[in-house]
Amino acid sequence: MTVKKKDIRALTKDQLRDFFVENGDKAFRGNQVYEWLWHKAAHSFDDMTNLSKVTRQMLDDNFVINHIEVDTMQRSNDGTIKNAIKLHDGLIVESVLIPTETRTTACVSSQVGCSLDCKFCATARLKRMRNLNADEIYDQVVAIDKQSRLYHNHKLSNIVFMGMGEPLMNYNNVIKAIDKITSPEGLGMAARRITVSTSGVPKIIKKMADDEVRFNLAVSLHSAIEEVRTSIMPFNATFPLKDLREALEYWYEKTKRKVTYEYVVWNGINDRKEDINALVEFCKYIPCKVNLIEYNPIDDGEFQQASERAINNYISNLEMHDIVVNVRRSRGKDIDAACGQLANKS
Ligand code: SF4
Repeated sequence: MTVKKKDIRALTKDQLRDFFVENGDKAFRGNQVYEWLWHKAAHSFDDMTNLSKVTRQMLDDNFVINHIEVDTMQRSNDGTIKNAIKLHDGLIVESVLIPTETRTTACVSSQVGCSLDCKFCATARLKRMRNLNADEIYDQVVAIDKQSRLYHNHKLSNIVFMGMGEPLMNYNNVIKAIDKITSPEGLGMAARRITVSTSGVPKIIKKMADDEVRFNLAVSLHSAIEEVRTSIMPFNATFPLKDLREALEYWYEKTKRKVTYEYVVWNGINDRKEDINALVEFCKYIPCKVNLIEYNPIDDGEFQQASERAINNYISNLEMHDIVVNVRRSRGKDIDAACGQLANKS
């Protein structure tokens, strides 16, 4: 009978040190392997050239390294790169590299499919197949960092958790991945360069505040009117705006950090004066800024980007109330890499 080997990256550094001691070697060997696995992102025990052949063989006899692979890569006219990432069990997620003049941003996935059911989102149609584990999230960042260096001549500058999945429905693995991304033993990136974007899971937002996380929080709001939000994001019936608001107040009280509201304006859905007024009121609860995001239709259905006039109405009303507002043009539209379009078409 063949014994299924364990994924070595599920082990902590202490567990790796213990493994070597139990096998008659020095504990520091565990530190060396840990560095190969995370900082150097080795995909094979043979890459670990400062270990003896015997040690590498012992690792190979006991463990596997379940790394991801970039299955296909598409490059957009605007420099955006979309990757279909193959996981060790053959499932696919997508992650995107978005370059601008001054920075490169990785948009990474946290689930295969999604637990939630936003009506405007291509990923929602896939349903949730499974959560990504921490190293699968970490590996996406490593892969995109390599692409950033190769195609844009500098390392990755920012990360957003806005790919496939709801990150707060996979909180523990997202946190573990961010710990590795920010650790000097991993990629050593600053936490303030990372943004976790959620549709709003109040209990976990409070937990994040209690955990004193250092990254930024963005909320896909899209409507500040309970019924409208429930009609486009049905889980809002379970996690209503009033609970979200209370959780965000708790977040601000504990962290003193602004929240970004991501907001798409759709024709005939949230482009009325009362929608704008409700957003302005919602923005008064805690310090925040609003990103108005250009929408990319996923079919000929009910969700179509609102008129320029409606968007300008939003901008002028928010600015009139001293609320910072940015308009975010979508990138990578020609390769279906824009917001809401990640759906494993490949
Ligand atoms: S918008 Fe985000 S949370 Fe909503 S279904 Fe799509 S991936 Fe999930």
